[in-house]
Amino acid sequence: MDYVNSVIDLIGDTPLVRLRRTLDLAPRGDGDDQGPLVLAKVEYLNPGGSVKDRIATRMIEAAEASGALQPGGTIVEPTSGNTGVGLAMVAQEKGYRCVFVCPDKVSEDKRNVLKAYGAEVVVCPTAVAPEHPDSYYNVSDRLASQPGAWKPDQYSNPHNPRSHYETTGPEIWRQTEGRITHFVTGMGTGGTISGVGRYLKEQNPAVQVIGADPAGSVYSGGTGRPYLVEGVGEDFWPETYDRTVADRVIEVSDADSFAFTRRLAREEALLVGGSCGMAAYAARQVAHELAGTPEGRDAVVVVLLPDSGRGYLSKIFSDDWLASYGFATTSGDEGTRTVGE
Ligand code: PMP
Repeated sequence: MDYVNSVIDLIGDTPLVRLRRTLDLAPRGDGDDQGPLVLAKVEYLNPGGSVKDRIATRMIEAAEASGALQPGGTIVEPTSGNTGVGLAMVAQEKGYRCVFVCPDKVSEDKRNVLKAYGAEVVVCPTAVAPEHPDSYYNVSDRLASQPGAWKPDQYSNPHNPRSHYETTGPEIWRQTEGRITHFVTGMGTGGTISGVGRYLKEQNPAVQVIGADPAGSVYSGGTGRPYLVEGVGEDFWPETYDRTVADRVIEVSDADSFAFTRRLAREEALLVGGSCGMAAYAARQVAHELAGTPEGRDAVVVVLLPDSGRGYLSKIFSDDWLASYGFATTSGDEGTRTVGE
């Protein structure tokens, strides 16, 4: 019989899907194909629905091995949702309690998912500095100092980038048969870009590693000014970010991230989150730069799409929400019709 013992066994080995319509590349004119090949690594196909399932398993296994997490212990983590889902899934399997601390800009849909997996959720204000006692970093530190509590701390845990060095990177190298030329990804903790980037550059130092970043975030030279795309960009430099790995960082506005997220759903049938729209928009820019150049012919651009769009239906995919921030609502025109109108 063909089955797995637990959903945990389904983490990783996500597919690469070619992006086509949203690239807007002119045909090469040789009867062959369009310019550079752009492939999306679709991480919402992990069982918890995001790339963070990968780091959750590795961080928990390492904490068990070191004794930092004891049987019956409590996992406490500040998370925008996806890491929480991964941790909650693995915790359930292994019998740990979970308490998650979220900033209030995280959608209610995402918080309810955490609760559905049996976790407890504490919500903190976004509009306070990291050193404020109510900041989600400080609240989680206080909770994590309780007896039996363990904080994975995805922002400093070396098993975060290591999980990408050991799984995501090798998968991409194998799936592209070593032909990848450019890797594009968003940066939150920096775990993905650091782990995948280091692995790919060890295989071939010529691989270009490109970060996509919301305008305002420190990675693209900002001061931490607020932006709306979730899960990416920071107002500080996390330990998990390896400053030597990115060859380049492309800044993307909220407006472009959200418009492109909607295009991915409507033109590529990829219902993904806002950080995916941001990363894919940067990958499209890279593809346009390569189109028509000699190296563009053989270029293989891989862009990592971290999560699903289901958690953002009342935000990015809501015309009212977009309009309330002054963003264009281009692709939602047909909308819902009520029978009899
Ligand atoms: N997108 C989303 C939706 C995320 O939750 C995260 C993780 N914070 C990222 C992108 C960035 O990944 P990383 O933390 O590995 O840099």
